[in-house]
Amino acid sequence: MSDCIFCKIIKGDVTAKLVHSDERLVAFEDINPQAPVHVLIVPTEHLNNNLALTAAHAPLMGEVFLLANTIARSYGIDATGFRVVTNCGSHGGQTVGHIHFHLLGGRPMTWPPG
Ligand code: 5GP
Ligand code: ZN
Repeated sequence: MSDCIFCKIIKGDVTAKLVHSDERLVAFEDINPQAPVHVLIVPTEHLNNNLALTAAHAPLMGEVFLLANTIARSYGIDATGFRVVTNCGSHGGQTVGHIHFHLLGGRPMTWPPG
């Protein structure tokens, strides 16, 4: 989608600190990190949010969590733990309309979320 910031990052038209890139998923560091490690895992397919997922995306969702594990290990936060979260819609706190998963770690997380 032409006016989508994450699609622009995926195309390489906007720079980001890339952590991973393949046909189905890219991962890059969040521009406004909320933790010492804050990586966004983003499907290359433009989907507005979770509600756009279909049964055909089920394997992709598995890949998201496997990639989160790989990235967590590469940042050395696997032993201390981390959080993977996706925000959906306005009450979910979603600000970018391209589905993505936050990988947060490097400090203790609080619960409940704000
Ligand atoms: P959301 O609020 O939709 O769950 O998360 C969107 C995330 O994207 C935010 O954490 C925000 O900091 C990040 N973000 C927004 N624009 C950019 C950008 O241009 N580059 C990068 N690396 N992250 C961005
Ligand atoms: Zn997009």
